[in-house]
Amino acid sequence: MRTHQRSEALFAEASKRIPGGVDSPVRAFRGVGGTPLFIERGQGSRVWDADENEYIDYVLSWGPLILGHAHPRVVEAVCKAASRGMSFGAPTEAETDLAELVQEAYPSMELLRFVNSGTEATMSAIRVARGFTGRDLIVKFDGCYHGHADGLLVKAGSGGATLGIPDSAGVPADYARNTITLPYNDAEALENLFFQEGKNIAALILEPIGGNMGLVVPDDGFIEAVRRATKGSNSLLIFDEVMTGFRVARGGAQDIYGICPDLTTLGKVIGGGMPVGAYGGRRAVMELVAPLGPVYQAGTLSGNPLAMAAGIETLRVIREEGLPEALEERGRQLEEGMAEAARVAGVDTWGIRRGSMFCTFFQQGAVRNFEDAQRSDTEMYARFFHAMLERGISMAPSQFEVGFLSSAHTEADIEETIRAAREAFAAI
Ligand code: PMP
Repeated sequence: MRTHQRSEALFAEASKRIPGGVDSPVRAFRGVGGTPLFIERGQGSRVWDADENEYIDYVLSWGPLILGHAHPRVVEAVCKAASRGMSFGAPTEAETDLAELVQEAYPSMELLRFVNSGTEATMSAIRVARGFTGRDLIVKFDGCYHGHADGLLVKAGSGGATLGIPDSAGVPADYARNTITLPYNDAEALENLFFQEGKNIAALILEPIGGNMGLVVPDDGFIEAVRRATKGSNSLLIFDEVMTGFRVARGGAQDIYGICPDLTTLGKVIGGGMPVGAYGGRRAVMELVAPLGPVYQAGTLSGNPLAMAAGIETLRVIREEGLPEALEERGRQLEEGMAEAARVAGVDTWGIRRGSMFCTFFQQGAVRNFEDAQRSDTEMYARFFHAMLERGISMAPSQFEVGFLSSAHTEADIEETIRAAREAFAAI
């Protein structure tokens, strides 16, 4: 039996000073119960908590660490950058280098700007889209999370879904009124909306592969329908690839589906574990961003040299090692092993994976949208989560999040995970 005394004590202390003891809600384990683990260090596929328990980690900081924890080349690049100065508030060559590495994989991002988080990226992309079109309305899908900017916190899946908060308090009604939500994978509702309101819609933003209601993939033809509807109304299409970027494929979902969005947002992997986001797209649109144009967006620490160094080295290793495509075999091994373990134990699950992202819903039948995802037995998920944790496997502490693989996860790690899953499914 693993003990968590030190984590419990640290959590009690943190809770006196920080709301809920955490700096991001899902970390608090409210979706699964119990006390969050305080992590002390990570190396490769493993993390160690404050009580020296070891875990195979599938959270990976919620996606960024596609090379695993503390990859030696990334650590070295960051240390080198730090020794030359932490931040200048002036341009550095590294920003152009990272932009070039991103554009090589995302040719749709003809001009791009670095920011400090995915939230900043989506918030800024929406502003540019409104500036470009002169329209106010934006469209998003139920269960898609695009960060915590006011107008995007409407039916936003992820942490809100975990906590049972469909829309955040504190968002002015005037903002929320400009956000229209539709069910994911409902091409008919989409076409009807654009038929009626298209000329007032600045942009449609979506996760082209949904990763914030668990994992939900688009039906055949859905992404094409989205592109058609937006183009037909001269509305911009924003692919939020903060999670899928360099994850489902090096070129993201836009490469998989062969669809060119007007704007793209990135984050997570492109910062290699440091705080980075980016937004970019068609030159004519991005030329509206200050100082070239009238859409204001800025940041004291934007393009931070340490963050750029981590991103550059991460994207270089990704290119050299043929990631994330090279993770396909491991991903399949994990997906099949988990499904088999559930079947043998007689537990109804719907497992799904795209590249190095995976998810197990505790229900029968396909999950095509947020409503389907919410039918999952979240109490069963919670029991599974804890049974895995007890066996040294760290999965996402919420049914509405996905798991991530890294290049540091070995075949032996996957085998150990599947062994644990067999016991865990049997135990619940
Ligand atoms: N968009 C998507 C698709 C995300 O998954 C996330 C974070 N999970 C965000 C935006 C927000 O990014 P951040 O947490 O860096 O603000």
